[in-house]
Amino acid sequence: MAKRDYYEVLGVERTASAEELKKAYRKLAVKFHPDKNQGDKQAEEKFKELGEAYEVLSDSQKRAAYDQMGHAAFQQGGGGGGAHNPFDIFEQVFGGGGGIFEELFGGGRRNPGGPQRGADLRYDMQLQFEEAVLGCEKHLTIPRLAECEDCHGSGGQPGSSRRRCNPCGGQGRVMATRGFFSVQQTCPQCEGMGTVVDKPCRSCAGKGRRQRQTPITLKVPAGVDTGTRLRSSGNGEAGQRGAPSGDLYVVLHVRPHEIFERDGEDLVCEVPTSFIVAAMGGELRVPTMTGSASIKIPAGTQSGTVFRLKGRGVASLQGHGHGDLHVRVLVEVPEKLNKAQRAKLQEFADLCGDEVNPQSRSFLERARNFFR
Ligand SMILES: [Zn+2]
Ligand SMILES: [Zn+2]
Repeated sequence: MAKRDYYEVLGVERTASAEELKKAYRKLAVKFHPDKNQGDKQAEEKFKELGEAYEVLSDSQKRAAYDQMGHAAFQQGGGGGGAHNPFDIFEQVFGGGGGIFEELFGGGRRNPGGPQRGADLRYDMQLQFEEAVLGCEKHLTIPRLAECEDCHGSGGQPGSSRRRCNPCGGQGRVMATRGFFSVQQTCPQCEGMGTVVDKPCRSCAGKGRRQRQTPITLKVPAGVDTGTRLRSSGNGEAGQRGAPSGDLYVVLHVRPHEIFERDGEDLVCEVPTSFIVAAMGGELRVPTMTGSASIKIPAGTQSGTVFRLKGRGVASLQGHGHGDLHVRVLVEVPEKLNKAQRAKLQEFADLCGDEVNPQSRSFLERARNFFR
């Protein structure tokens, strides 16, 4: 039977060093691993071929024999030069355990071959407007897979040891049938670790982790807004066999305020005032996030005029000071007038003539074209 040359399978020169062989194998084995190519027969064949080629070429005696005689060197034994299960080869190279899945499905930061780091968790939290602007401390209870307190994450009773997992034969994977396909999946017995404890901890059934309500105190800095993500380090799921925990990400949702609106680091609020104060000028009391302040408005202030109170906005999350508070003045007219008030206003109007509404003349001039 014609077989591809092992060097060609790995895509290396015949003079390749052990390091180069390993590198080539790692790259291709990850690419064609059946977990990543479920149901793809060609990938499966390639994966087997890679294992066989690497097994022969990484062993100096077998490599010498192959260099001399080619595939014929192994034909007497039957089944070619690769006598082992391709998954065993893969685990030898990658170190076994949860690290394999990291190599296959990305992640990178985890230690390949080591126990698997716990998953990150997301928690969505509502905040009052004031809490977001001024900062606060929140006490949460997060349901999470935490390290078992009784076995401290080992999964075993005191004095127990780990042995090979039977259902998966130490591979961490088992075959499962889905419809017409046979696919590999993580072994449910050992959760992919390939080993189990001989005397499992009773509290966690040997898993080393338990679902638990974990109280967490979260410091929310002043200036957060809807969409801000706070990281609570180590409060994600516990890792396997004492591996580091994942992180908890708290995503914030800020409720609207009755008076204030947010515009980045600035706050905006509308403050009504009488047409008398607006016309004559005066003091205006305005609310701030921490109390109130007073602003002087000049005579002749128009409705919609915005006054800026510097530094009375929201703290910058990046640490450059505070935004401003923008106060928009709304000039109100009385809704009801009694007889005497009406008479006085008429008298006032007679005194003013055109001056009673100063914008009117220029507006009429600009609008003339539309009125024709
Ligand atoms: Zn336990
Ligand atoms: Zn297993």
